[in-house]
Order: sequence, then structure tokens, then C-alpha cells
Amino acid sequence: MNRPTPTVRLFNTLNRKKEVFMPMASGKVRMYTCGPTVYDYAHIGNFRAFVFEDLLKRWLKHRGFKVFHVMNLTDVDDKTIKGSQSQNTPLKQYTDFYANAFFEDAAALNIEPANVYPRATEHIPEMVALIKRLLAKGFAYESDDGSIYFAISKFPDYGKLSKIQVHDLKAGARVKVDEYAKEEAQDFALWKAWTPEDGDIYWETEFGKGRPGWHIECSAMSMKYLGETFDIHVGGVDNMFPHHENEVAQSEAATGKPFACYWLHNEHLLVEGKKMAKRFGNFYTFRDLQKKGCDPMAIRYLLLSTHYRQQFNFTFEGLEAAKSAVERLSNVMRRLQDADGKSSGEIAQLIINVGECFGDAMDDDLNVSVALASLFDFVREVNNLIDANNISKLEAKQAHSLLKSLDKVLGVVGEAEKKDTLQKEAQDLIAKREEARKVKDWKTADMLRQQLKAMGIIVEDTQQGVRWKVEEA
Ligand SMILES: [Zn+2]
Repeated sequence: MNRPTPTVRLFNTLNRKKEVFMPMASGKVRMYTCGPTVYDYAHIGNFRAFVFEDLLKRWLKHRGFKVFHVMNLTDVDDKTIKGSQSQNTPLKQYTDFYANAFFEDAAALNIEPANVYPRATEHIPEMVALIKRLLAKGFAYESDDGSIYFAISKFPDYGKLSKIQVHDLKAGARVKVDEYAKEEAQDFALWKAWTPEDGDIYWETEFGKGRPGWHIECSAMSMKYLGETFDIHVGGVDNMFPHHENEVAQSEAATGKPFACYWLHNEHLLVEGKKMAKRFGNFYTFRDLQKKGCDPMAIRYLLLSTHYRQQFNFTFEGLEAAKSAVERLSNVMRRLQDADGKSSGEIAQLIINVGECFGDAMDDDLNVSVALASLFDFVREVNNLIDANNISKLEAKQAHSLLKSLDKVLGVVGEAEKKDTLQKEAQDLIAKREEARKVKDWKTADMLRQQLKAMGIIVEDTQQGVRWKVEEA
């Protein structure tokens, strides 16, 4: 039976419905995802978004698309400035440290790297140029203190992404901070004139001494690397307003063209049923979980196993279940490599079934729970066949390669077997050493470096932060 060519459907926040995904250029996807603000270690809510984006990218690649992915690093904004000042560390040194930590965490979670990681501080001229376009077209104005604001009343489409209603009263009112509530929708800062609180963080530009607002950073960097209109923009639902709404307004006002064609937003993460917050004692960075001995692949599996548009409740019980799911998957793959029984002729149909079910579910806006259910049905059937010695070497090979191709989408088994994966003990030592360095305890840091060396791990302190590698045998 001929099946129709698979089509991927994605829920587009712009229209609040599932749409068949059609990239602008056939077979090629240009995708932008809001990256980390590098002012602290990324927490598991951040990683829910990053793992979802990774799953989306892997699925599009599985369906034959070539994906060009840009993820920015926000290395200057209200939070990074505040953080670097409170630590008495130059902004670059401060953000490099956390950018490096982010790359390490992302690698440990087997997140495929983006094609480009533009940093905001390296794109100030692009931001200035974009703001100039907005000024020239009358969408922006300078305030008394020399800051430049976007006039939301000049852009009739303002609110089209987050569906907020802008009340007339608010027109002309201004907000200078990067983050604010929907109820406070008003003219927002594109360029912030220097104030003494900014200390030595400013750029001398034709607008005078100052720094960019957070929102303009993403507009300038996405359009630089992906063009004025591109296919997919992804981010967490908490960034839909004001960040993404402002990105749309600035970009479309400047170019007169649509900005991103598809907007995807992942829902919030709860921890043990509650909003994750330091004051509730349920706030976890990825590193906190690693220190507790949690397996990165189980964390990855858990983060991706709930549909991205559902609120996701992270629990340690769930993490245990995720760990056994990953083990079940790697066990069956191991068993298939040794299987050498009689053919029952059943495997071919099972392979077709799981391929179709998994594929149909993922094409349906990444319905991962249905996809995983079909995958584990298949795993159970295959285990039964192996138990009864009813699977031939050739059949086992076919089943193995099917599982391998689906794991390339999930990314939970293949990497677990990579031999350069750092042992937990070594990861702990690296984290401890970073802690020591942070408080300038060089003696401890040096002792830990020696300890790591003895384990075959080389740690280097570069200008970009701490790097490590496994010593070649
Ligand atoms: Zn962004």
C-alpha cells in the first residue's frame, strides 16, 4: 500500500492552530531559537526548551529537511550586568564562564550544536543599524534621557503574537526594563542611554553612550544570519510576551515583511507539582541534578517525553521511570546485536508498524507520548521474539537499525555508549573546581586539577572559560 508523502504539522502560535509545515525554500529550514542569558547556570526549565528544540530539529532532519539553526547568547542585558557587578567581575569574563558552562551542559544532554551561536555584544553595529531603520520610518523615538523607544501605537499589529489588547491609556507610556508583565504593555526600550548603574558597560555609538535593550538583540541577530523572513522561531511560552512580541514588532516594522513564519512555544515546567522557584526549595539547574547523581540521558528522556505544549511536571519518581525507559531501550538494542535464532517472519510487519505509528505521531506536532508508546510496544514484541529465539540474525539487524534511526531522533541511547562521556565522579570534580575558582581558592582548584589529570581528564582555563577533554590513551 502506498502511503502519502509524510507531512509535518506544527502548532503555529501566530494562528493558534496546527499547520502543514512548508519552509520558504524547499527542503531547507531556517530556524532561530532564543538561547540562554548567560548570567547563571541554566536550570531545567531552560533545558526543557532546549531539549524540545533539539527534538524538533532532529525530527525535521529525520524527515529529510536540512536545518540551519541559530541560537543566540544573551551576554548583555539587565540580568548579566547585575550579575557581573554583584560578583565584581568584568562582564565578558562573567558571561564567558556561564556560556562555557552552558555548552558543557548542552553536550552532556546530547543537544546537537546550533550552526551559529551569535553573542549580543558582538552584534552592536547590527542593532544600531536596525534601530536607525526604525527611527527613519517613524516607529521609534528618542526620549529626554537619550534612550530610544519603540512606539507601539505606530505598529497596528502590536499584540498579534501574544494576543494582548493594548489599551489606549498605555500609549506613550514607557518601560525601560527588559522584562515586564502583559498589563504593562507600553513603549519599550530599543537603546538604553548610559546611567551610572551601568558602570563600565556601554558602547559609544551615534546614539551616544549606552547599550541595547534585550529584545532588539534577537531581531538583529536572527535577521543577520537567517534573513529578514525565516521559517521557524522557537522559545519558551514565558518569553512570548514581551520578548517575542517585541521581536515581531521591531523586525516587521523595520522590514515591512513577515518575520518568522512559524512560532513554536513550549509550556512551563513544574517541579513536584509546583512552580520552580528558589524560595520553594525546588529550583534545580542541570548541574544540581548531576551532583545528585542523576543520569543525563534519563534527564533528557524525561524532558522530551511530555508533549511540548503541555505543562510538564518534573519529579524524581518520573526521573527513575525515565532511567528505566532508557535502559529498556539500550538493553533491547544490545540483545538484538547478539540475537541469532530462527525466523518467525513477524519482524518485518512490526518494523513497518512502529515506523508508521512513530512517524505519524511525530508528524502530528511532535506528539511524542504516542510515538514513545508505539516504540515501547515494539520493544516488548521484540523482547518476546528474542526470548522465544524467534528472530534471525538478519531480522535482528533490521530491527536494530530501525531502533537506531529512531534513537537518532530521541538521542538517548547512542550517546550513552560513547566512551568519551565523562564519568559522574569527574563531572563532580570539575564542578567543584569551578566553585573553588569562583571564590579564588586556587589551591583547591589546583588540587582538583591534579586529581582529574590522574583520571585522564585534562582541564584547561582558556580566555573563553574552562574547557576539558579526555586524554588520548
Ligand atoms: Zn530572544
